[in-house]
Amino acid sequence: MGSSRLTVTLTVGLAVLAWMSLGAGRPRAALRVTTGPKITSPPASPPPPVHTETPAPCPPDTLPDGDACVRLPDDDGTDDTPEALTATSSHQDKGGRWSVYEQVPRRPDRPAEYDAYRYPVSCEECVVSGYDLDLPDALQRRGRRLRHVGHGAVDLLQKRGTAVTLVALEKQRGDAEVLFVGSLFGTTVATRHTVREGGQLRDYVVLFGHLEAAAAGVQPGVHVKDGDLIGYVGDSGSPSLVHLHLEARRVRDGVDPAKLTPSALVDGASTIACDPRNVLPLK
Ligand SMILES: [Zn+2]
Repeated sequence: MGSSRLTVTLTVGLAVLAWMSLGAGRPRAALRVTTGPKITSPPASPPPPVHTETPAPCPPDTLPDGDACVRLPDDDGTDDTPEALTATSSHQDKGGRWSVYEQVPRRPDRPAEYDAYRYPVSCEECVVSGYDLDLPDALQRRGRRLRHVGHGAVDLLQKRGTAVTLVALEKQRGDAEVLFVGSLFGTTVATRHTVREGGQLRDYVVLFGHLEAAAAGVQPGVHVKDGDLIGYVGDSGSPSLVHLHLEARRVRDGVDPAKLTPSALVDGASTIACDPRNVLPLK
């Protein structure tokens, strides 16, 4: 029995020694670091392939939305008009001299009927004189009291004092801006409109002539929106014929209409006479 007890004691003692020599008393955390998975070592295999193809940039007038290009509401492709081409015309003035000039005739896609358009005044068959600079000399406007041959505008017969309100032009971008208030075609207000046509932005000048008066607060630099009051119909510069003279002129490339003198606003070197039907909105 004594031998048996010694064997048990020896076995236990050796086991304790072995346990101690293995460092079983050290903190377990240290053991985990040395025996755990390779946390900090680089991955054995390369990372999965990443989609590196660069998406094509969105075309002009669109914005990226995820994988798609979304058209901007104001630039949906239909919001552009064809370029209205200029033409060279001529007429003979009262002194017999021929005048050759550039003008922008009505585009073929625009209705010829004046009543198809919306004007700064209420108008049903009120156009008493239309745009005729695109017609042959013999068919252009002449009259005993008219100094000038031809008419690069429309005349709208109205009652004195009728409110004249701004009309935003076809494909106009942003507000219009008052450029001039003063004497030109009688008392006249001129506004600047930026429109999109032929894939680009162009400036137009609109002239409201023969006014009784401009509206209060209408002065150069003021921004005006569709429906804003511009002035009142009268016969200034056109005694006894109460009407609104409405003229649209395309600003030549590179010209800043805000820097033009009143006479330069209607000078062919800076602006080109344009058939108003190209830019007036349809009813
Ligand atoms: Zn006129």
